[in-house]
Amino acid sequence: MAVEKHGGNSMSGIIHGIMAQANYRAWEESLHGKRAVDLGKKECTRCGACCARRPCIPTPSELKKIAEYLHTSARETIRKYFVIDRMWLRPEYFIFPAKTTQRDLTGEFVPSDRTFDRGYCVFFDQERKACKIYPVRPKTAREQNCWQEDDSKATEQALAAWKRCDIKKQFNIDFNEE
Ligand code: SF4
Ligand code: SF4
Repeated sequence: MAVEKHGGNSMSGIIHGIMAQANYRAWEESLHGKRAVDLGKKECTRCGACCARRPCIPTPSELKKIAEYLHTSARETIRKYFVIDRMWLRPEYFIFPAKTTQRDLTGEFVPSDRTFDRGYCVFFDQERKACKIYPVRPKTAREQNCWQEDDSKATEQALAAWKRCDIKKQFNIDFNEE
């Protein structure tokens, strides 16, 4: 997910990335307090912290289902709502929903200085505190439970699926690699 990437592999990029990540973490912590884990609950309170902190990562097949739900093609879905990213020091590219602050980047690779943009996922309805694509939300969303110690298994599975997928060929999307 975008929050794990640093700003390039040069020394200044790494220092910039570490500072940006620390700053981002402080913002993440400001979202705490109403999460199920803070309240000692074992069911989602729909506080929205997940959808602000870390938009969920769909697998390529889940992306196609989201596109069907939106009555458009996967390519158009990526171009309108998703950004392309890569974990720091990992080779695979993956796509995930842009944040509202990243609408200008949809269909493109997230540059390192935008990795830590704050804001909610473009599919998050802030008034209703609900996911606009709820019936087809990815497994990574369904299994993101803050009260569980390790909720990263689905994310790892999604990343493994993207490792086997050439985004450019499969979805006819061209983007500049970092
Ligand atoms: S799972 Fe996410 S949205 Fe639900 S209570 Fe926990 S942090 Fe909030
Ligand atoms: S797609 Fe839905 S569940 Fe996933 S981050 Fe966005 S609003 Fe949240």
